[in-house]
Amino acid sequence: MKKKIIIAIDGFSSTGKSTIAKLLANTYNYIYVDTGAMYRAVTLFAMNNNLVGKDFLEKELLVSSLKNISLSFKINKKLGFAEMFLNNLNVEKEIRTLEVSQLVSKVSEISEIRKKLVAEQQLMGNKSGIVMDGRDIGTVVFPNAELKLFMTASADKRATRRYKELIDRGDNISFDDILFNVQERDRIDSTREDSPLVKADDAIEFDNSDMGIKEQFDRICALVERRIT
Ligand code: C5P
Repeated sequence: MKKKIIIAIDGFSSTGKSTIAKLLANTYNYIYVDTGAMYRAVTLFAMNNNLVGKDFLEKELLVSSLKNISLSFKINKKLGFAEMFLNNLNVEKEIRTLEVSQLVSKVSEISEIRKKLVAEQQLMGNKSGIVMDGRDIGTVVFPNAELKLFMTASADKRATRRYKELIDRGDNISFDDILFNVQERDRIDSTREDSPLVKADDAIEFDNSDMGIKEQFDRICALVERRIT
């Protein structure tokens, strides 16, 4: 019988973490947790309640509202992966807008929010057989994960991928705004005080600027196999 492990995938914005994570989860029959979706859902809650905007953040009010925020993932059988629910409402589409992307890193800097979400993430990992992606999974959430990956790619490649995704789903956005957002999020995520985005010492780095999904996936599967057999 193969061992069930925890796979932690961290890295910069739009490096294809979730694509790889979903493929791994389907192949190994693991649970996939997109922790970025959780930070995005909290940001959407803050936006809907006027607690965050371009020039303001009502930090104390947001922290005291945390008790009113309930997050859950529910499997969408048709899509084959779980969608994000905020207070029992499906917010999977709303959390992917550029507006949310522009505010999420500011909200994610708040330690009280990180504490709540990290605790929920650790509970999900109680039974191994999980693939989780984010910014602090290998460093903070599961420092003992059996396999840690760290994904990078050039900002231009990442913005191009993200732009295509948003255009394909009908959003009206400009490439320059996406490029700026990708770079700005990396800057805030990497320099924040609490749990900044850094490569864990024992993480394996993948620069996928010029690597297709298939090649990446095959290499990663070889790493997984070595750990589960
Ligand atoms: O992964 P995604 O790009 O959807 O993440 C959105 C944002 O959520 C990141 O830019 C970061 O600010 C925050 N995040 C985080 N820690 C995580 C996952 C995401 O701070 N584990």
